[in-house]
Amino acid sequence: MIPVLSVTSECVPLVKTGGLADVAGALPGALAGHGVEMRTLLPGYPSVMKAQPDATEVVQIENYFGGTAKIRRGSLGEAVLYILDAPHLFDRDGSIYLGPDGRDWSDNPIRFAALSNAAALIAAKGLDGWRPQIVHMHDWQAALTPVYLRQMGVQDVRSLLTIHNIAFQGIAPPDLMGRMGLEPQGFTRDGFEYWGRISALKAGIVYADKVSTVSPTYARELMREEFGMGLQGVLSDRGGDFLGILNGIDEEVWRPPYKAPTGKAKLKAALRAEFDLPEANGPLCVVISRLTAQKGLDLLLDALPSLLGNDGQLALLGSGDGRLEQQYREAAARHKGVAVHVGYDEALSHRMIEGADAILVPSRFEPCGLTQLYGLRYGTLPVVAATGGLADTVIDANPAALARGVATGIQFHPVTAQALSAALEQLCALYRNPKVWARCTRNAMAQPVGWESSAGEYAALFEAMTAG
Ligand code: ADP
Repeated sequence: MIPVLSVTSECVPLVKTGGLADVAGALPGALAGHGVEMRTLLPGYPSVMKAQPDATEVVQIENYFGGTAKIRRGSLGEAVLYILDAPHLFDRDGSIYLGPDGRDWSDNPIRFAALSNAAALIAAKGLDGWRPQIVHMHDWQAALTPVYLRQMGVQDVRSLLTIHNIAFQGIAPPDLMGRMGLEPQGFTRDGFEYWGRISALKAGIVYADKVSTVSPTYARELMREEFGMGLQGVLSDRGGDFLGILNGIDEEVWRPPYKAPTGKAKLKAALRAEFDLPEANGPLCVVISRLTAQKGLDLLLDALPSLLGNDGQLALLGSGDGRLEQQYREAAARHKGVAVHVGYDEALSHRMIEGADAILVPSRFEPCGLTQLYGLRYGTLPVVAATGGLADTVIDANPAALARGVATGIQFHPVTAQALSAALEQLCALYRNPKVWARCTRNAMAQPVGWESSAGEYAALFEAMTAG
């Protein structure tokens, strides 16, 4: 078994704000059957400490980034969990990243420097009679680990940085260098300096042995100016050491209660009733999403006539941008084929995926995306922008794919209201052709969307990194 330490600021089922938590939570179990023993290092937030009351102390470190810290050993399913129990850094109410004023905790650079440094200590000296050969770092919060490994003179531990969201880079003012335990030699253009400040994410990109993101298309996109958020050059410089590996979904949590898409009829009727939508001849489409500019839902407002004009319907579940919430409420008041639920509701999201004919994901960028994968699993055809992980997971119903009978959804490009309108017209036309529709929905349900194949890719990467 290859010993790998996964370093993350979130992990289901203990603490989650986004998709990173799902990935970090799923990988140890998925990799166990692939010759990888993955243990996880996570900060001791209140929710983690509460859920792991029996976690035993393995080591105590004095004067650790402003206080006494302990590393405790708990469990994550069958796998080992190490908890960085440092109350002065992590024992706080509210969000794990934001203070009560809704802004980042001002000492976030220190908090996650401490996490990364703890990972380097475990890699340097081992813990519990166990020592990783590889450190797998998630996002900027873990990305300083290879800097500390260098400072400690550790040369026999490899590192992989996975980027889940390039928008967050862990930028800190240079005068924090001392408190972060960073040696000034690294503060250069070839190191962790970024326009006069410290960038944790850049440090990881520069110093990790390998860098990955959560889909092959997003990996290519990140090397372009429109997507790279300033780091496109640094990523391009990594050449073949930068790659994309798709996320999977939990196939137990997302398990359709029917064997074939025809099993939807009752669930669809129930969903219409729940959203107060009338019977209709066109497809019932859903959106389950944060309402932000990234998700392109402003474009859907403009494209709605193409759906409604074909007697299609839209049920939306989401929250976020107040203006978008309001615009969707207004659309629902104006059109009897549109219904909106503003909020976050996991159970309702399941009922929507189950009962709908199609799911719409018109994102401007999407590192991987999960809801299109849920859609595939339930035979709920995804209509997606041809970007990031959306482009990599949906087989567009173009003439070639239809002729071969392999389509699983619709992709559109560019990400504009016009292109989305055309995609919705196409969806409605497909829906009017029961034979083709049945084929596409069956294909969708047959497409593998679990962790199996990606776990194999991570395992192969870890093997290559430790070979020789
Ligand atoms: P992102 O991480 O950018 O928000 P993803 O598609 O990767 O996008 O993951 C979003 C996750 O959050 C999915 O599991 C989706 O079902 C869930 N989700 C988003 N909005 C809601 C909501 N309003 N109610 C329930 N679940 C939601």
